[in-house]
Amino acid sequence: MRLDVSIVIPVYNEQENLLALFERLTAVMDRLGIRFELIFTNDGSRDRSGEMLQEFQRLRPAEVRVIDFNGNFGQHMAIMAAFERVRGEVVVTLDADLQNPPEEIPKLLAAIDAGHDVVGGYRKNRQDSFFRTYASRIINGLRAKITNIRMKDQGCMLRAYRRSIIDSIVASQENSTFIPALAYSFAVKPAEVEVEHAARAAGESKYRLYDLIRLNFDLMTGFSVVPLQIFTLFGMTISVLSTLFVVYLFIRRLVIGPEAEGVFTLFAILYFLVGIGIMGLGIIGEYIGRIYKEVRRRPRFVIRNVYERIDE
Ligand code: UDP
Ligand code: MG
Repeated sequence: MRLDVSIVIPVYNEQENLLALFERLTAVMDRLGIRFELIFTNDGSRDRSGEMLQEFQRLRPAEVRVIDFNGNFGQHMAIMAAFERVRGEVVVTLDADLQNPPEEIPKLLAAIDAGHDVVGGYRKNRQDSFFRTYASRIINGLRAKITNIRMKDQGCMLRAYRRSIIDSIVASQENSTFIPALAYSFAVKPAEVEVEHAARAAGESKYRLYDLIRLNFDLMTGFSVVPLQIFTLFGMTISVLSTLFVVYLFIRRLVIGPEAEGVFTLFAILYFLVGIGIMGLGIIGEYIGRIYKEVRRRPRFVIRNVYERIDE
């Protein structure tokens, strides 16, 4: 049976937010008067989230489906598992922490009805820490330069996709992926709408600084590529430090004049180049790491159980 809309929500330790989310979400969806399903993926939560989701499933057996992961495979894999099962003609993704107000869903659906195939939200008044907001702005700018993805706000997960886009995403079978960017690459007529953004209702962000760096290297999981990443960071750090060193030595050269027959300047340049060299190796390593993860062909996630009632 095909439905109108599937709502996909990744959940990792969100027990304080789930009840409010469920109430607000069902209120919005019931008002729309369409056939919908809510697919929650429990991404290895260690709190009561899993039980709460099963309770929702018992409350609304016809609409709620719960995918229970065997461990923590990350937000994007949680979404991917749901994508593999969606029945809706339109699929909406949403965070579980109420940072994306469910009340904005009709706005996205309206844009889909207007003929767009990928509708991204961009956050008005982003309510994250100062550091997150600005770091993300810089990275967004950098990403815009090095890829041909034109997206105002890559980090906003409140998005709607036409079914054909989801089918392409599922067919990609990629291991470490960033869903908004992947979806964009398949889009024919993308659109962006402004959405509200709230501070996290409860609990704390699951992403720490290191996670965010890793996310931006587009490598979400797998322990054996981590050394490569540290390698990259190490190279970058050396480059930055030796750049400062060059500047320092240059100023010294101007102020004090030649010292030790320019040996220090030589060293500074050498360090700088070695730094760049290591960084280059690291970057190559990033790509090899990705290739390694793809060829190894391990399951991207492991599902322990699915709680759903599907009547054909
Ligand atoms: N999430 C997940 N698995 C993870 C990390 C996060 O399913 O390993 C979910 C989390 O429960 C939330 C969404 O992904 O619904 C976004 O996470 P978070 O709010 O921590 O990220 P932020 O808003 O800080 O970018
Ligand atoms: Mg959040």
